[in-house]
Amino acid sequence: MTEFKKEDHPIEESKFHNKAAVGEAEDTSEEKILQQHVKDYIEELLPVHQGLLKELENYAETHSVPIIQREVAELLKVLVKTAGAEKILEIGTAIGYSAMIMAEAMESGGKIVTLERSEKMVALAKKNIQRGGYSDRIQIIPGDALETLHFLPGGYDLIFMDGGKGHYREMLDLAISLLKPGGLLVSDNILYKGMVSSEELVKRRKRTIVHRMRAYLEYITRHKELTTSIIPIGDGVALSYKKR
Ligand code: MG
Repeated sequence: MTEFKKEDHPIEESKFHNKAAVGEAEDTSEEKILQQHVKDYIEELLPVHQGLLKELENYAETHSVPIIQREVAELLKVLVKTAGAEKILEIGTAIGYSAMIMAEAMESGGKIVTLERSEKMVALAKKNIQRGGYSDRIQIIPGDALETLHFLPGGYDLIFMDGGKGHYREMLDLAISLLKPGGLLVSDNILYKGMVSSEELVKRRKRTIVHRMRAYLEYITRHKELTTSIIPIGDGVALSYKKR
């Protein structure tokens, strides 16, 4: 993928306006965290996935499954590589897309444990992970993540928090304890379509989630054990380094 110009791909243009359908099917509009032209420009620069990953991106769009956005996928690859992560914990498997993105970015011996409550998603992810050839490296643990976190052994280099947006805060203390010192906590969707940063944008049905997310961000930005940076790409990503 070398030359990618918007004018060569008129279909891409209309896709941007359909983004609201991805993730939260009931939303009719989506506030962009970045200005649209900046977001479009960054998207143009992204390498295009082929094969299974591309297929999963299409599946997610068609079936409104919330998967990580493309620019977040690239960020994850960089983080996994720079952290030299060998043990990763993911909260929220969905269809296994982000787990496979991370597995591909890891050294060959690396292992990922990923937690998913939905039986339907577990079945889909299992099939996808098998097709991707990652069954020996990605372990799905079905069930409620908060319960599972209690019995996991810990020592993770990187934890990717991408489960139910209203539940980040209750999982945080366990997640921090499972992260090794010098490890990285990556939290996705923390600006939640811009609603977290502006009271005017908050849809009534989303109020609880938004208020919980704000509490989460205030907590991780002030936490003594963490150094946190908020990145306004995708749906908002927080990077929290656990101090040594
Ligand atoms: Mg997400």
